[in-house]
Amino acid sequence: MSRTYVVTGAASGIGKATKELLEERGHRVIGVDIAGTEVTADLSTDEGRQALIAQVTELSGGTIDAIVANAGLATPTPATVAVNFFGAVATLEGLRPLLAGSPAPRAVATASMASLFPPDEELLAALLAHDEPAALHRAGELAANEQTGGQIYGTTKQALAKWIRRNAATEEWAGAGIPLNAIAPGVVVTPMTAAFTGSQEARDAILQMVPMPLNGIFEPRDVAYLLAWLTSEENAHLCGQVIFIDGGSDVIIRGDSTW
Ligand code: NAD
Repeated sequence: MSRTYVVTGAASGIGKATKELLEERGHRVIGVDIAGTEVTADLSTDEGRQALIAQVTELSGGTIDAIVANAGLATPTPATVAVNFFGAVATLEGLRPLLAGSPAPRAVATASMASLFPPDEELLAALLAHDEPAALHRAGELAANEQTGGQIYGTTKQALAKWIRRNAATEEWAGAGIPLNAIAPGVVVTPMTAAFTGSQEARDAILQMVPMPLNGIFEPRDVAYLLAWLTSEENAHLCGQVIFIDGGSDVIIRGDSTW
């Protein structure tokens, strides 16, 4: 049966591949991005988040079947905080009411294996407290220093994964019959990672940091297959899981300390 999906970050990389895959399978996809797809919305701002909800409501007629909160930034800037955490949460919470009319509602967010790297604790606390001004302020401090700017991305992704864990089993999600989960990709070839995947030397260097013994660096379509399954009718019982699609970096980094 044809379903209606909302995919953020649909103009590029993983979001684009997911939109294409779902459309090939006969579904309707409302893409969201800063440009180049159905809904134009800047998820780093309140206005953009409101525009997302208004435009998706209008285009869908008020009912959607699945949300893929995938838009993201990887720059060492406060904007990464605004998009990766607050933009993703606003997407999930803002569009959740539109899932009420679906016979098989689903939601998923794109976190990252970078969520395993040591976070900045002050930024993490501000994110988990949902304090956007404090989080942006702390990100500004981190961004001002080359040594710490790199922590911003992983911290936003850890906070997003934790938000999914904290919310998946609540009345609003599980109680409403909505599986809410996350994925945590390793290194995927997209414009975001061009600097890490463009040459053999760069690939070797990133694989030192992100070990991926199972089939190495991979393509956005490989992630799209997982996102498509997590948001399909077939996934009715996965609740609050963070699925590492990472060629093995999670098992190498965390071993059997988690299961
Ligand atoms: P990408 O840069 O190709 O795509 C990201 C998309 O998000 C872009 O189209 C961009 O315009 C959009 N976006 C950024 N800021 C936005 C904003 N303010 N409002 C609306 N849209 C905005 O990168 P990608 O690799 O496809 O990334 C998709 C997701 O996967 C991101 O959340 C990223 O953090 C995550 N991820 C990527 C990798 C990887 O190796 N590529 C690994 C782990 C996680």
